[in-house]
Amino acid sequence: MDVEGIAGIVADRYGKRKEEVLPAIQGYIEEISRKGWFFSPPKYTAPPAFLSLKRVHLNITEACNQQCLHCGAVTGTKREEELKKEEIFCLIEKLMQLGVDSLAITGGEPFLRKDALEIVNYASLRMNTILSTNATLITPDMAHALNRTNLTIQVSLDGATAEIHDAIRGKGSFAKTIQGIRNIMAGGSEGLDLCVTVMRLNLQDILPIVALARGMGIKGIRFLLIQRLGKARKNWSDLALSLDEQEQFYRSLYKDVIEKFPGIKIDAGLQGYSLQDRDTGIWCQIGRSLAITSTGDLFPCPLLTDARFSLGNLRKGVLDEIAYSTKREQLVQDYCDRLQHLEKCKTCDWRGFCQGGCPASAYLEKGSHLEVDGLCRLRSELYESLLFSLPEKRRGAADDVCC
Ligand code: SF4
Ligand code: SF4
Repeated sequence: MDVEGIAGIVADRYGKRKEEVLPAIQGYIEEISRKGWFFSPPKYTAPPAFLSLKRVHLNITEACNQQCLHCGAVTGTKREEELKKEEIFCLIEKLMQLGVDSLAITGGEPFLRKDALEIVNYASLRMNTILSTNATLITPDMAHALNRTNLTIQVSLDGATAEIHDAIRGKGSFAKTIQGIRNIMAGGSEGLDLCVTVMRLNLQDILPIVALARGMGIKGIRFLLIQRLGKARKNWSDLALSLDEQEQFYRSLYKDVIEKFPGIKIDAGLQGYSLQDRDTGIWCQIGRSLAITSTGDLFPCPLLTDARFSLGNLRKGVLDEIAYSTKREQLVQDYCDRLQHLEKCKTCDWRGFCQGGCPASAYLEKGSHLEVDGLCRLRSELYESLLFSLPEKRRGAADDVCC
């Protein structure tokens, strides 16, 4: 069958005119040919190096100076047995030896540790480093010291006004965060992004947040839907978006935001909505990621931190042995193989791209990774509209990463 024939079938199926569909089909065929998928589709099996670590999330303190309603940690207070600076340096060296190329340093609020700047600088000299902070403690001097290559500073901002941001993060926090952002920018850092956790309280504030970012000269924003972890679990009924609200958010993001603010790089945080041909064939990063708590406990990904997923503790084992342990291998294998067991996905047109969504989100929402996550309907609809607007999609969402 020729391209026109295919366009005719697609047009009939989706109630479009053939002339309208033809350019999209031609573009799509060119795209998959270029990627080599036309003759060799992406594989869904785990790659040989499926346990090789690339990305590590390191929480350096649970202490925090805000009281976010959705915080993934629960206490917000420092643990006595936190990893010491020397232990963290040692860990970073080990991660380098293991081939890790990206370290995300998180908290709590990292700058409640007096040695946070030293840790960040030590890491960014050795690998790509992402620092997650609420920026409230960043002074002009610190901002100057944070002007480094290999460092992205990701500042959490959950509202475009004090009214909304403070209702989520605590009184007075908006003004301090905005001042911290100004300090970072005055310090000359190029790699500054915002990170917005999307929930019911700020759903109407998405466009104003993007407008605020543009006004301040910020070039990237990462949106993440609230996850059922820590305090968010307790406040779930007040904070969580309904399915309709999630759809409203993503539609507004992909249409209004990406169209109206082309200069800002948007990471929509929508797992399973990516057309990138990852070398693993599986976009879930579970075989490549590791999450480490402030006391050295290891978990396979930042969303899987229940005791049952514990891989051990840095102080009680050797990192390579934990990273390549049978427990981790089995868990990663189960998660990578899950698509074969998802009944709903077996006949779905989009299974090659979507792959059943994020297994950890499915676990948090439904108690099992052998379920699809809550964004199944949304993704299948978005993929459909994507087929008719491939150039726009490539501009906007192709770089989404899972965690
Ligand atoms: S897709 Fe989900 S399970 Fe996989 S690494 Fe990312 S957050 Fe974890
Ligand atoms: S859209 Fe839904 S049914 Fe299709 S692959 Fe994704 S999760 Fe499975």
